[in-house]
Amino acid sequence: MKSNNHSKSCQIIINKKYDDLKNLETQRTADTTPDLIIDDEKQKGNYFTSKISSDCKLARELYEASVQSHWYFEQPKEFVDKRIVKLKKQQKNDKVVVLDLDETLVYHRKNKSLIRPYCKQFLERLSKVCTLVLFTAAKMEHATNMLKLIDPKKQYFKAVCTMDHMIGNVKDLRIFQTDFKDIIIIDNCPLNFIGQINNGVPIMPFEGENEDNQLEELLQYLEKLLLVEDVRVELSKKFKLEQFYKELNGRQAINKLYK
Ligand SMILES: [Mg+2]
Repeated sequence: MKSNNHSKSCQIIINKKYDDLKNLETQRTADTTPDLIIDDEKQKGNYFTSKISSDCKLARELYEASVQSHWYFEQPKEFVDKRIVKLKKQQKNDKVVVLDLDETLVYHRKNKSLIRPYCKQFLERLSKVCTLVLFTAAKMEHATNMLKLIDPKKQYFKAVCTMDHMIGNVKDLRIFQTDFKDIIIIDNCPLNFIGQINNGVPIMPFEGENEDNQLEELLQYLEKLLLVEDVRVELSKKFKLEQFYKELNGRQAINKLYK
């Protein structure tokens, strides 16, 4: 019995060391990965960074998310276990894209709902090349109503998550049991992804503007991002969110990091 316990604990240590080695290897590969997307953007113009201004609301929120992520303590595993979402991927090696709803795909105020321009094409094209999940901080009732507008034939999303799947105010990606190198979360509120800040893609909030083209531009970016080995490497280079907290505020961070 004693030797059984001993061999079990040895196995745990071996597994841990193996995981550490694997992580180190990923990091090394990541460090030597050429900046394919960034180079391409230099030629075509820069998605997002050319749009964001240092005094917009999102700049302040990015700064706040960065600060919070440095203070953030991962919530216990039992909180995650209660919220596990089993995903049925289309392809075994699919990456997973988690999409926020309000102000990312739709704008809903006083019983009036507006769909973000290009939303249909965005979901249609993206759903063919990755596994899509809808994750709203609202209740299921709201999600169901909005899904009637954006996915009436229920063909785009493999799972729908609501406020009940959040841990506190965070959309913790651990609930999807997917390797972090293969999962992306897109949200107009970066505080929602402070648990895994280098998996986050911030997006300008949609508040009903007819001329909004963020989804169109985001799609072009995502189609390339989905091809990289580890999304965290590319996203940390592009959005530099981990470095925001070193500045005095969002305005200063954007001026310094994005220009
Ligand atoms: Mg939102």
